[in-house]
Amino acid sequence: MSPATFPFSRGTLPTQLFINNEYIDPKDPSTFSVFNPRDNSLVSNKVPQAGPEDVDAAVSAAEAAFPQWKAITATERRRILLKFAALVQEHAEALAELTRLTLGAPYNAFGKFEIDLCTNAFEYNAGWIDKFAGEAYPQQDGFMRITRHEPLGVTAGIVPWNGPIGTVGLKAAPALATGNCFILKPSEKTPFAALALGALIKEAGFPPGVFQVLSGDGKTGALLASHMRVRKVSFTGSIPTGKKVQKMAAESNLKRVTLELGGKSPAVVFDDANLENAVTWCVNAITINTGQACFAASRVYVQEGIFDKFTEKYKAALEEKAKGINDPEDPSTVMGPLVDKAQFQRVTGFVERGAQTNKILTGGQRVGDKGFYIQPTVFTDVKQDEEIYKEEIFGPVSILNSFKTEEEVLKKANATEYGLMAGVFTQDINRALRVASEFESGMVGVNCISLNFLNTPFGGSKQSGLGRECGRDALEHFTEPKTVMINLTY
Ligand code: NAD
Repeated sequence: MSPATFPFSRGTLPTQLFINNEYIDPKDPSTFSVFNPRDNSLVSNKVPQAGPEDVDAAVSAAEAAFPQWKAITATERRRILLKFAALVQEHAEALAELTRLTLGAPYNAFGKFEIDLCTNAFEYNAGWIDKFAGEAYPQQDGFMRITRHEPLGVTAGIVPWNGPIGTVGLKAAPALATGNCFILKPSEKTPFAALALGALIKEAGFPPGVFQVLSGDGKTGALLASHMRVRKVSFTGSIPTGKKVQKMAAESNLKRVTLELGGKSPAVVFDDANLENAVTWCVNAITINTGQACFAASRVYVQEGIFDKFTEKYKAALEEKAKGINDPEDPSTVMGPLVDKAQFQRVTGFVERGAQTNKILTGGQRVGDKGFYIQPTVFTDVKQDEEIYKEEIFGPVSILNSFKTEEEVLKKANATEYGLMAGVFTQDINRALRVASEFESGMVGVNCISLNFLNTPFGGSKQSGLGRECGRDALEHFTEPKTVMINLTY
């Protein structure tokens, strides 16, 4: 499929569900609207809302496809996943444009990154297909034992709006690589790139029913999470919704659940840190995707000896970033708008309430008078009981506090129900490793923060999540171990 024949663009948006390898109108006639955050103009009021009959149709198609997909040779399955990855890459700009219309993420600053993440995830997981072996225990007491990783059957991925295609790679690729069928439910705020994947799914050669896309809001998500014939839900989103998903999973068929949830991640900078390096990581980590990143470094703690110098450089670097706030359609734009009016009101609400009792180091203002642009904003000397200290804001807003000792800062860094990401900046390897082991967090950066790799587990501790994506862990979370016991004396 050449770019010329890719059927979707901003002028021809996908507005049908993708079920059993066909684009079809939903049985439920309801639709919802989406808006462009650059100016709040209507993008479409025709996005389909998959209802119970549509969800049942997709689940039935997936069930019918499962035996064939599970049994397909490893070579053939790998070929299909790799072809899909190549197609996503070939249409990267078109897919990113479909996302940008409602997310507002500039291509060079974020759109390309998240499409690459999807492509790389499919390539990485395709490589596992014939290498994800079980174990064999030699004869003992007359029995040999073999363990196998069995696919679960019909699985579903419910994803958020802040990485609409990257998160598809993290969920669909390991699910499909291990022989499951997969139903994708994109966020109601960013449905188009996900729906457009249908054309590429078919072109890549996935058999009908193996990989399907159902747009809809939380009601569609709830239908999947509570469905009696869906065997696993991999969810990325907020903590309150994640808890609902887990409850629905338990109360229906005890389906397996993976939860990738929110964060309030601490960056801890010691006196001996390389200042430029620490500032660069901390600034990028709170401005990428306009701060709408689960693992954003939103709490920065700097030791007293370099606090003033760090503060000066952090402020200057964020103000430099703010100069790159512009229309996401402009390729030189560094930061686009927040995703929509609701998110803009949420973030500016935190900033306005925070400003009543705290000092703003930089930012705090809306940019322009249309669209949902906001300056990167830093509060200093924030008390631990303030909401801006405790709650995930999900915008380019951080708090900057000083500390004296390692013991003190670890207590502060860990005094939260979140546990997704943390970072320590120091030249002392002993301290780096000690602090890394003390952080209550699923991921820790040493002299870096807010990053991930496809071959190592990605996810949070405490209320930031349950289970892991990426690496071998993702494959394990999409399979069930089976023990085969062989009686050698028979
Ligand atoms: P959200 O919880 O509002 O929605 C996430 C998805 O869940 C959407 O597709 C939504 O339609 C669906 N949903 C809503 N109600 C549902 C219900 N009752 N049952 C089933 N599904 C339902 O989250 P959001 O606003 O889209 O995303 C932002 C959140 O996601 C932030 O908290 C962020 O930290 C988190 N996030 C986490 C990670 C991670 O990997 N840990 C990555 C990205 C985003």
